[in-house]
Amino acid sequence: MDYESYYYIMPDGTTKQISPFTGTEVWAVPGRSSKPTSSNHTLPPQKITMKEKEDYCSFCETRLFETPPEKARLVKQGNGFSKIEYLQSDKYFDTVPEFRRVPNLFEIVTLDYWRKNYGYKLNKEQLQWRDNYLSNSVGLRHITDIISFKLSRMGRSLDEIKKIPLEEKLQMADSFFGGSHDIIIAHRHFLPNAEFDNQLISSGDMTTESHYQYMLFTIESMVHIFNMNRYARYISIFQNWLSPAGASVDHLHKQLVALDEWGSSMTEQTKMVRQDPNIFNEYGPNFAGHHNLVFAENEHAIAFVGIGHRYPTIEIFSKSQASRPQEHTQEEIRGMSNLVHAVHAAAGSHISCNEEWYYTPIDSIYKMPWRILIKWRINVPAGFEGGTSIYINPMTPVEIRDRLVPTLYKLRDEGKIEISRLAEECKLQPNPLKYYLK
Ligand SMILES: [Zn+2]
Repeated sequence: MDYESYYYIMPDGTTKQISPFTGTEVWAVPGRSSKPTSSNHTLPPQKITMKEKEDYCSFCETRLFETPPEKARLVKQGNGFSKIEYLQSDKYFDTVPEFRRVPNLFEIVTLDYWRKNYGYKLNKEQLQWRDNYLSNSVGLRHITDIISFKLSRMGRSLDEIKKIPLEEKLQMADSFFGGSHDIIIAHRHFLPNAEFDNQLISSGDMTTESHYQYMLFTIESMVHIFNMNRYARYISIFQNWLSPAGASVDHLHKQLVALDEWGSSMTEQTKMVRQDPNIFNEYGPNFAGHHNLVFAENEHAIAFVGIGHRYPTIEIFSKSQASRPQEHTQEEIRGMSNLVHAVHAAAGSHISCNEEWYYTPIDSIYKMPWRILIKWRINVPAGFEGGTSIYINPMTPVEIRDRLVPTLYKLRDEGKIEISRLAEECKLQPNPLKYYLK
């Protein structure tokens, strides 16, 4: 392969990169990485009062009525977890949810989009849930309150909201019962014994088991959305961590948004995989291996530093023959989860990041591997980028690797992450991804 045109380290250390998948041109200039990477906080951390039951934001455990009605929750049961679906509102506080799935109050792709463009209708399961929920006085109150809150956020005055008939408010609530944009909310807001408001719980602070459950619950939610919305062709899954990454709430959560198309980057990548079915091996782990950018591996997944990204980016690929998350075995999902968890843990909770999932769309006959990209939002593209279309990434791929590896060894020694092979222990076998096999 002609790798040099995509990744070239100049004598002064400047690393010029072009993403083989998107064509994005990126330079990493030595010295810029000395800009701060450990914190996005400009304000000094504020002291917090720790409470037994957290109530710091609308996603906290005492404020369950500040999100739209819950679709599902995962609770601890014995040594395992069990799922409760469509819980009645008066039972919200009977169990402690480790993770909750709730509709997004402000959908990106709205219920009306599906209704008006496709003739989407709420199905029997959704209508039954809605009727059950509204037949309970606590549920009815919850729905009218949250619709009023939504209207106020949309700029309507209290007087105006009062005048809207109940019937109309309940119709608005259909987007909760039939929408296709969900949020997965983690239990805790702050670390146990936190003293300051920057001691938030991030993905990396979870145990490996909790992180696996978080991922599994997300995949099950994805399957559920596909089952409810027969017009969905792809579900975008992502996690925005802290405000520089676009998070409006500091409380850990993921989002799932159903789409009626794949988006242009997935469409382009499908064209590439049609021309060369092995492209994800060649420009993924094979490429990264030759440049010593592979830094972690287990039986089911492999992690390396990505090239040609605007932000420092780590890519975690599933090695499975399956090409969609929901087609993976539990062991394979755990393999992915362990690497994603380890990368978050090694970065630390103060680094703002996006976690983005990619996989083969349900209606694609060309297979692409399931992969998760973690992008550190530590830089803001500015005028230079706009004028030249050359993006300046503050860290070279080698610097990103070297920032992670020592911490990964330390965390593994402490038993906080599960990784079978780190850095030089990685095998670098060619074509480790098996998605191309029928
Ligand atoms: Zn919270």
